[in-house]
Amino acid sequence: MIDNRSGKGLSFVRRIYLPRIIGMGIGLFSVMAALAPLQPPTWVWLLLVCNGLAWPHLAYHWALRCATPYHAEQRNLLIDSLMGGFWTAAIHFNPLPSVTLLSMMTLNNVAAGGKRLLVRGLLAQLAGMLLASLVLGTGLQLQASPLQVYACLPMLTLYPLALGWVCYRLAIKLAEHKRQLSALSRTDSLSGLLNHGAWKDLLLLKFQICRQQQLPAVIALIDIDHFKAINDTFGHVVGDSVLRHLSQELQRNLGQDDQAGRYGGDEFCVIFPGQGQGQACQAMENLRERVSAYRNPQLPALRISLSIGLSAFDKGLKSPEHWLDQADKALYAAKHQGRDQVNFTRGGAAPLRLAYPD
Ligand code: GH3
Ligand code: MG
Repeated sequence: MIDNRSGKGLSFVRRIYLPRIIGMGIGLFSVMAALAPLQPPTWVWLLLVCNGLAWPHLAYHWALRCATPYHAEQRNLLIDSLMGGFWTAAIHFNPLPSVTLLSMMTLNNVAAGGKRLLVRGLLAQLAGMLLASLVLGTGLQLQASPLQVYACLPMLTLYPLALGWVCYRLAIKLAEHKRQLSALSRTDSLSGLLNHGAWKDLLLLKFQICRQQQLPAVIALIDIDHFKAINDTFGHVVGDSVLRHLSQELQRNLGQDDQAGRYGGDEFCVIFPGQGQGQACQAMENLRERVSAYRNPQLPALRISLSIGLSAFDKGLKSPEHWLDQADKALYAAKHQGRDQVNFTRGGAAPLRLAYPD
């Protein structure tokens, strides 16, 4: 059966399971040591053992079976607080175990639900104290024996350790998710290349580097010829696979520092940092030839040709947009001159000169 409750707190329930087993298991000692001298009825001992040993498993399975495990787990945390309040009144507010229990539960509530759960947790603790006072009577035990102090030590040391570990794991997971999200927001889902925004950011960066360090660089705009006709003739699925094929060819044939992106639709873009016009033109000519040689045995009539416009960085260029505009003009000229070709223009304020590379 498919579980459609992801995003509704399943991982929260799983994350809290082990700390609750540890917390309840070792909290049992501190309450037992404080409870023993008060000689409570047998049912109180049974309740304590159930709360310490069985409740963490019950709470886990109960929350897992709920439609919204996150809300179920918040309810479980309030039950924890209620029982924490109950035991502090049952041990007649013996200071060290009481403070240990209540502070650990408050820590849980703040970590799991912020201010809202903190306030509701405090109210649940008060309700628990009231309940215990009603059924067991009231009392005050302000002296702690050495045994009662020692019985609190496991809770004071191990529980923060368990909770700290959970928080650390969570922080690692969040950092990983953030990294994945950031990569996704920069990637074009169909081609796997940089998307329009990410490539434009890169263009700005390279433009500034070229300007400051007087380095050469070339940009290319690549457009599939008559792509609309490919879609119309063979369908959009084939159109998509053509786009993917071109992306793969780009990735396969570019150098380590060259950065390709999908500018939009059937248009792709490349930055060749540190390269002169000859190298970049050669790389694009190779790409054009390889793509035009593509044959699909299932679609023998399918042909792909590319028009490519290049523009080299020039100190006369006013902005990245100006640089891009020069490449666009070269591409436009390639289309105008019959498509299936590479065209080149030097950037800058000089009049547009179109020529094939030497
Ligand atoms: P030209 O030779 O002048 O470039 O002609 P063209 O038909 O390639 O140019 P045009 O810009 O008119 O067509 C681009 C087409 O690309 C139009 C649009 O439907 C199609 N397209 C845009 N994005 C996608 C996509 O993600 N998948 C598919 N299959 N088609 C797309
Ligand atoms: Mg096109």
